[in-house]
Amino acid sequence: MGKIILTGDRPTGKLHVGHYVGSLRRRVELQNSGEFDKIYIMIADAQALTDNADNPEKVRQNILEVALDYLSCGLDPEKSTIFIQSQIPELCELSFYYMNLVTVSRLQRNPTVKSEIQMRNFEASIPVGFFTYPISQAADITAFKATTVPVGEDQMPMIEQTQEIVHKFNTVYGEALVQPKIMLPENDSCRRLPGIDGKAKMSKSLGNCIYLSEEPDEIKKKVMSMYTDPDHIKITDPGKIEGNTVFTYLDAFCQPEHFERYLPDYANLDELKAHYQRGGLGDVKVKKFLNNVLQETLEPIRNRRKELEKDIPAIYEMLKKGSEEAEKVAAQTLADVKAAMKINYF
Ligand code: ATP
Ligand code: MG
Repeated sequence: MGKIILTGDRPTGKLHVGHYVGSLRRRVELQNSGEFDKIYIMIADAQALTDNADNPEKVRQNILEVALDYLSCGLDPEKSTIFIQSQIPELCELSFYYMNLVTVSRLQRNPTVKSEIQMRNFEASIPVGFFTYPISQAADITAFKATTVPVGEDQMPMIEQTQEIVHKFNTVYGEALVQPKIMLPENDSCRRLPGIDGKAKMSKSLGNCIYLSEEPDEIKKKVMSMYTDPDHIKITDPGKIEGNTVFTYLDAFCQPEHFERYLPDYANLDELKAHYQRGGLGDVKVKKFLNNVLQETLEPIRNRRKELEKDIPAIYEMLKKGSEEAEKVAAQTLADVKAAMKINYF
């Protein structure tokens, strides 16, 4: 059996640096490593509609934005199949059968669903589609027989839910589905990058993001306004690293060569942290360093995006080709599922 990746993003906005360190950067590395037999990247428009039912235009427009972000970061349609979820009707059929394998109380216990319901003020009136999206996500993953799902930490309960569905299906009907594994970023700070406000996870829906396509002056403004240690008032005061967003971002983004280029007085991040904790290192200096690191990381991505934006029909053509290819694979899985369930009558 091959090694197969399925992962993706909801087209609810442009992609941000949290997506980059949480999943996108890894996908590009895995794609280029040649270690996987197939890589499927899904733009989850149908899932995005589960909490944006009144705003289909937002979802529609952001399909293009997400596709542009993908290619700008180095996803290559020659190596990875990029497709649009709603164009694969087999996913609905799979979800329909998986719904019988999950209880309402199990969905209610899903911690990500719980916190997302709270975030969206859905407590009184949860759309059924939103409540059941973990089931449709299980369909997405299993339709492509994915062995590996590279995602951020917020997705852990989703993958667990999928694993339970696969186990139940295979036990009841026979081994038709592949059991997937989550692949989290190795670096702790990348698993759930906080927003620039330092409060919650960076999220399109919360407006606390630095976008991959952000212009240089905006990046700088956002970095300079970032949350640090509120008790670090004078430069001479000792500062805290834990919960200090600027250091969390440095953990996620900075490479040894950044010190050589922008901060040669320090050998590495540990030295910089130690100085901050001792006292004598100001927030502004650290923020300027982070700004340099982010500018260097984002500049090539932004430039590639500007090139790609010149030929939008080519992007849609790529998505059409990817969706056609993806549908063939999902159709085969659906056939396997129906055979296992013995509902292939004719
Ligand atoms: P929404 O608010 O619409 O849910 P989002 O910003 O949470 O948007 P998703 O499309 O739900 O983005 O997530 C896409 C992928 O990016 C997932 O693998 C998720 O784990 C990862 N991801 C999202 N935000 C972060 C973050 N702040 N840090 C690390 N990974 C993240
Ligand atoms: Mg999300």
